[in-house]
Amino acid sequence: MIDTHCHYNHPQMNLHEGDAEQSIARASAAGVTGFIVVGYDLESSRRAVEIAETHPNFGAAVGMHPHGAQQYTEEFDLCLQEWAHNPVVVAIGEIGLDYYRNISPADDQTRVFARQLDIASNAKLPVIIHCRDAYADALSLLDRESVKAFGGVMHCWAGSPEQALQTVTLGMHLGFGGTTTYAKAQNVHESAAAIPLSRILLETDCPYLSPVPHRGKRNEPAYIKLVANRVADLRGISAEELIEEADVNSRQCFPRLAPLLKGN
Ligand SMILES: [Zn+2]
Ligand SMILES: [Zn+2]
Repeated sequence: MIDTHCHYNHPQMNLHEGDAEQSIARASAAGVTGFIVVGYDLESSRRAVEIAETHPNFGAAVGMHPHGAQQYTEEFDLCLQEWAHNPVVVAIGEIGLDYYRNISPADDQTRVFARQLDIASNAKLPVIIHCRDAYADALSLLDRESVKAFGGVMHCWAGSPEQALQTVTLGMHLGFGGTTTYAKAQNVHESAAAIPLSRILLETDCPYLSPVPHRGKRNEPAYIKLVANRVADLRGISAEELIEEADVNSRQCFPRLAPLLKGN
């Protein structure tokens, strides 16, 4: 399994010395063979690159989360452009729109999102999109040639099945995480069943959004099998088939990832 969205760059994944290394060992024991550590600001993007440069089976994504739109400086812009050339950087993200918490004004979010889509396009990289309560605006910004050409993922999918199909039409994948295991997440369940199997990716978004029965506790990549089992159930296929397909999809979505995986 490939965890296409985890945050070993987050302080909660490094609380105790050596804890992250133990967590990585637990993930490997649980069958996780690849990880994408996703940045959300300057420091976390720098950490993501460092982790991917020093750990086999890790790729990095770099970007400014919509919450941090007002911290998007010239310096950060230059860093992004430089990181985009690094072979361990497999995507630009997480970038997008978040109207649920609206920590940055919507105008700033839109400007910074569009600018980072341009950087991804120039670098021919896929994008990792964070979208909360903003599907209509996000999908209209993603409706562009570079996204059709280089693709990406709407991570932690929470939209409707109709929006899921629209996202697929734009050339994107959908990332399913812990929320898939929540009983009330009907939109997520219906979306997972509605889209082509070839567009499904698995993720944890750890330390957030632990799957049942770990809900409310710190999440980690070792729990991703619980998500895989649930998505397989929703599609009426075996977990083995789902996992195999999701691995193929991950490599297809992130072409720079495969060379970073041991034994490819
Ligand atoms: Zn996110
Ligand atoms: Zn995230």
